Amino acid sequence: MAHKLPDLPYSYDALEPYYDQQTVRIHHDLHHKGYVDGLNKAEQALAQAREQDNYSLVKHWEKELAFHGSGHILHSLFWTNMAPAGQEGPDGELKERMGQDFGSVEAFKKQFSAAAAAVEGSGWAVLGWNPLFQKLEILQAEKHQNLTQWGIIPILVLDVWEHAYYIKYQNRRGEFISAWWNIVNWQEAAHRYTKALKA
Ligand code: MN
Repeated sequence: MAHKLPDLPYSYDALEPYYDQQTVRIHHDLHHKGYVDGLNKAEQALAQAREQDNYSLVKHWEKELAFHGSGHILHSLFWTNMAPAGQEGPDGELKERMGQDFGSVEAFKKQFSAAAAAVEGSGWAVLGWNPLFQKLEILQAEKHQNLTQWGIIPILVLDVWEHAYYIKYQNRRGEFISAWWNIVNWQEAAHRYTKALKA
């Protein structure tokens, strides 16, 4: 079955003034849609390769599958990772675990912001639960699919591709990162953490 672009869980202007509606609209309707389409295309091409028993382009389509599939997954999380300003958190078990694995919530936020700011080119900052190591970790993703650890379950993700902030923030990625903390949906992050613990 073909993948579909998920609806935004809020209106285009719900994250103002920290995340402007023009960027949200283009980012969701065009950029995210592009990854959904690219993922479907890669899956179709690989199905056709199996039918025709012709794997001459397998390397190309596997790369497309990783790139667009990861793009679709990360954007789907990104939208639910945000909510209108005024959210409280983190608290509860997630806060406790941040203290255990990073020293404090403040230290977590500092490292996450620094990692996001330092992504080389286009990519993401990712807070993930590593079930194998039983700890939270911060990773950078280059593009969507590079530099991960296998098995990590993303809890909170921040898109720092230029398309994610350029209209409002131009080249000031750091300003976008600071503003973004105002619209983090901590409730959803806590929910994802609780689910990840069961993996
Ligand atoms: Mn994006």
